[in-house]
Amino acid sequence: MATKFLTKEKMGTPQVEPALTPTLESLTLPQRPKLGTSKSRKRDIPEGLWTKCPSCSTMIFDKELDENLKVCPKCGHHFPIGSRERIHSLVETCSFEEMDADMASVDVLGFKGVATYKSKLEAYSKSTMLKDAVVTGICKIGSHRTALGVMDFSFLGGSMGSVVGEKLTRLIERGTEARLPVIIISTSGGARMYEGMFSLMQMAKTSAALAYHAKERLPYISVLTHPTTAGVMASYATLGDLILAEPKAMIGFAGPRVIKDTTQAELPPGFQTAEFLLNHGLIDAIVTR
Ligand SMILES: [Zn+2]
Repeated sequence: MATKFLTKEKMGTPQVEPALTPTLESLTLPQRPKLGTSKSRKRDIPEGLWTKCPSCSTMIFDKELDENLKVCPKCGHHFPIGSRERIHSLVETCSFEEMDADMASVDVLGFKGVATYKSKLEAYSKSTMLKDAVVTGICKIGSHRTALGVMDFSFLGGSMGSVVGEKLTRLIERGTEARLPVIIISTSGGARMYEGMFSLMQMAKTSAALAYHAKERLPYISVLTHPTTAGVMASYATLGDLILAEPKAMIGFAGPRVIKDTTQAELPPGFQTAEFLLNHGLIDAIVTR
């Protein structure tokens, strides 16, 4: 003890003192107040109990919204619904046999933008618990065995890459072999440009599979939900023997601004909505969820 006091006094040079414990103490002390940050207070506020309807501004209790299949009980606005919830609402209990559940996309082009395609795939599969933007399988709807494909907009905007194309093609081919009707419920921003040509060729592939299915005189029902656009709209989504749509769904190829700029013409009111397309004969019926 005594020797330590002596050395401190004797070695009272600036070289020794700053390297001693005072620097460590000064580091530990200010760390304590940092624990009670404002961020944690924000997290304490319960979220997800109520949802405001974007159409009629009604506050809807989330449980009520779920029980009503994500449709506003007041104005009938159709909120987006995930593929799993959609399947659950449509098929007979425990009848869904999923196909190709583990098929996942590969970054064939080594795409690098603001973020890499690989990192996007990882982030989306974590946040959505999905492997890609479509879930396919054989199920029973009522007494009918059906080949069902349901797209999910929450995975990269429901974009169609190799996996979406391949899973749907396999589903349609399975439907053809087993002589089953095919139902595809679409929601998509179009072809997945991270995969370039590989995504575009899915348009031809799915369409060809549907042509073989049609040759066998088997029914194909396409259901368009908000939004269904671009490469998906230009392929399997519009090839249905029966094309149904959900109310007020946005359906089209290019966005209205692009069309307006290209054609230099004023677009009619309600352009690219399900109601407009029903009046103009592109779809057969609008069906609520
Ligand atoms: Zn509403």
